[in-house]
Amino acid sequence: MNKVLIVGGVAGGATAAARLRRLNENLEIIMFEKGEYISFANCGLPYYIGGEIKDKSALTLQTPESFNKRFNVDVRNKSEVIAINKEKKYVTVKNHKTDEIYTESYDKLILSPGAEPIKPNIKGLENDAVFTLRNIPDTYKIKDYIENKKPKSAVVVGGGYIGIEMAENLIHAGLKISVVEFSNHVIAPLDFEMSCDVHNHIKSKGVNLILNSAVTEIEKNGPSLKIYTTDKELYADMVILSVGVKPETSIARDANIDVNERGSIIVNNNMLTSNEDIYAVGDAVEIVDFVTKSKTYIPLAGPANKQGRIAADNISGIESIYSGTQGTGILKCFDLTVATTGINEQVAIQNKINYEKSYTYSASHASYYPGAVNMSIKLLFEKITGKILGAQIVGYEGSDKRIDVIATAIRANMTIHDLTKLELAYAPPFSSAKDPVNMAGFVAENIITDKGEIFHWNQVDEIINDKDKIFIDVRTNLEYENGHINGFINIPVDELRQNLSKIDINKKIYVTCQIGLRGYIAARILKQSGFMCYNLSGGYRLWNSVFGKNEYKEDIKLNNETMVPINANTIAIDACGLQCPGPIMKLSEAVKNAEDGDVIEIKTTDPAFSGDVEAWCRRTGNTFGGIKSEKGISKAIIKKGGAVNHEVSTANGKNIIVFSGDLDKAIASFIIANAAASMGRKVSMFFTFWGLNVLRKPKKQNVAKDFISKMFGMMMPRGSKKLKLSNMNMLGIGPKLIRNIMFKKNINSLEELIEASIKNGIELVACTMSMDVMGIKMEELIDGVKPGGAAAMIAHAEESDMSLFI
Ligand code: FAD
Repeated sequence: MNKVLIVGGVAGGATAAARLRRLNENLEIIMFEKGEYISFANCGLPYYIGGEIKDKSALTLQTPESFNKRFNVDVRNKSEVIAINKEKKYVTVKNHKTDEIYTESYDKLILSPGAEPIKPNIKGLENDAVFTLRNIPDTYKIKDYIENKKPKSAVVVGGGYIGIEMAENLIHAGLKISVVEFSNHVIAPLDFEMSCDVHNHIKSKGVNLILNSAVTEIEKNGPSLKIYTTDKELYADMVILSVGVKPETSIARDANIDVNERGSIIVNNNMLTSNEDIYAVGDAVEIVDFVTKSKTYIPLAGPANKQGRIAADNISGIESIYSGTQGTGILKCFDLTVATTGINEQVAIQNKINYEKSYTYSASHASYYPGAVNMSIKLLFEKITGKILGAQIVGYEGSDKRIDVIATAIRANMTIHDLTKLELAYAPPFSSAKDPVNMAGFVAENIITDKGEIFHWNQVDEIINDKDKIFIDVRTNLEYENGHINGFINIPVDELRQNLSKIDINKKIYVTCQIGLRGYIAARILKQSGFMCYNLSGGYRLWNSVFGKNEYKEDIKLNNETMVPINANTIAIDACGLQCPGPIMKLSEAVKNAEDGDVIEIKTTDPAFSGDVEAWCRRTGNTFGGIKSEKGISKAIIKKGGAVNHEVSTANGKNIIVFSGDLDKAIASFIIANAAASMGRKVSMFFTFWGLNVLRKPKKQNVAKDFISKMFGMMMPRGSKKLKLSNMNMLGIGPKLIRNIMFKKNINSLEELIEASIKNGIELVACTMSMDVMGIKMEELIDGVKPGGAAAMIAHAEESDMSLFI
């Protein structure tokens, strides 16, 4: 064997070439790459577009010349292999520099042609402002478009890894972003409940996240684009299409090399195809799932590199085996880290695996050492053996190393019992004596050894109305008052022993706490006292991240320069680790003890704080200086008193409380609101109870709900077009009549008035308390609506000289 040809000059191809040369100095190696660039950093492309990577040259790790110099490989870029003759063992090549077509013989051939972006059947994809991202020319096209055309907005189609990275980087580049995702959550390897924190985080960074929706058509709209989705129209200056990739294997198929129904090349564990002289690697091949041992497709850079090396080994006579891909992946999602390894629940169910899961919420390092932030870990394991099947982590600092530890454990076929024994590096700035991975192991072990029987977030609805069960929330009174699952009574864990005699021992007890830890202690107390007891896995925190109000607030730029005058007395408060309302209470106390003009800098890890602090400042006459979140820690600046420059002083805003869900009253509200806005007044509309129906989307949204909420949702009008008149409804003829008259008299329809109100900057606030009562979720309301509580409404009223209750 003297001559090896390689098709594709990036991850798998370049690795195979380098390994071949290191193993055999005498081999003739030719690497064909149809593009201009070889061995480039695909994974870094979004960061160059966003400006994080500044230097273009950082993307190209090698040039054809440097690769040739280092490895003595004949690198032929702009050279596309267009056919394989496996009988006569030669390939046909088109040289795109000269248009010459020639053949090249081989002893062994390695195919690493990668995968291309999927282009679904959407009308208008050929538009100049629609982009996909695979390689360096794609990257330059997007970057040039941003620099020359100065787009202000973009729609990213697809909420996978590349879609979310692009959303983040386009925001860095200064664009307003909508992400349209077909399924009910972003990042497919995550399970739904683990993605809920990710959704909130993305929204808090200003992304308009549209789930359960598909783009159907893209149309030119003057200089920009109109994007039709299954339930609405969007306007943007550019579109990034990132709905996944498919193997680029036409030359293999044409040569009758075996491929599966997806088009992936079928290889054995030596990376050998159905032909004894042709190997294939990377995004083009079908792989074995390391956990389930079934055939699947997981296109990732690490596996492509490893497979390139294995193919080279086998060609060189070194027996080398690829034992499968487990799909370890990680994503920087703004400040958040999202990481997965192994399989998720969907795959476990498909493969009929008898699995169980645990949820833990652990600090990245000792909580007493500054800067600790929590990470949420979901562990999947076999029920009987405890074998680890997969893990998902959503967190900040330290999430990466924990996923790698679990990925290693999966490779070593370890069980959850092994996780409890791992001795991991500990000092307070880095970890805890019980590392988050150990904690995940302890909790999982308690579950399968029946020390902590559990129930899950998605079972609450089914059992909450069962009279033979007792539901106890064992958090403190304050935590319970601040938010709880309806149907749970409150007995704090520290008072449980004294109250045991009051609990009916014949009933099953279901406990919850914030994250599952105090619930476990309560369950142990109860169990050892003879009760049948179950603990809510992941606690109220997880349940609330799925079903809760999930208020979020975009970052408001911190205004240190104007807020912190020279010589101002600055008081720093660390409220990290405290849950709502802890941080607000700490702030209130600090302000009480401060002098007028003092500046308070408060740090917190409570996600609800950003939604509360501004309204609190306005209500209390203190000056809000902004809030910024980074890596899970929000820092806000507040100046005691002196809210003189604030909108409060103008006091000519208009505050409209829309209680009614009647069509005529809704029209009147929006006419008044738009009129006031057009006179330059700051207008806030607070929708509560039936008024919320005005804001509902017309289409049913796929959101998790309990039974009562579903019933409520079915009975109430879904959106502005379904509203009735307060008088003369005439079995539904009245609204049609009114709409017709308004149309004839050239008066805007309610829908147009709503659209105008958003354009006019009118603040549409949905009352979170009423939403909670009526079981309405934010996803069901039209875009542009913010969640808010009574405090926010009162703050608006105080800034207004008119409040209307309609
Ligand atoms: P590629 O690296 O795609 O190389 C294939 C090459 O073959 C291409 O350059 C193509 O032009 C060439 N080619 C195709 N057909 C022919 C032909 N007939 N003749 C000659 N040449 C041909 N993975 C991760 O693990 N982590 C990440 O963070 C990550 N981020 C990514 C970000 C982006 C924007 C993209 C596009 C991918 C990312 N990936 C990431 C995926 C990763 O880049 C791929 O899994 C990996 O590059 C696959 O290697 P490969 O050799 O199979 O294919």
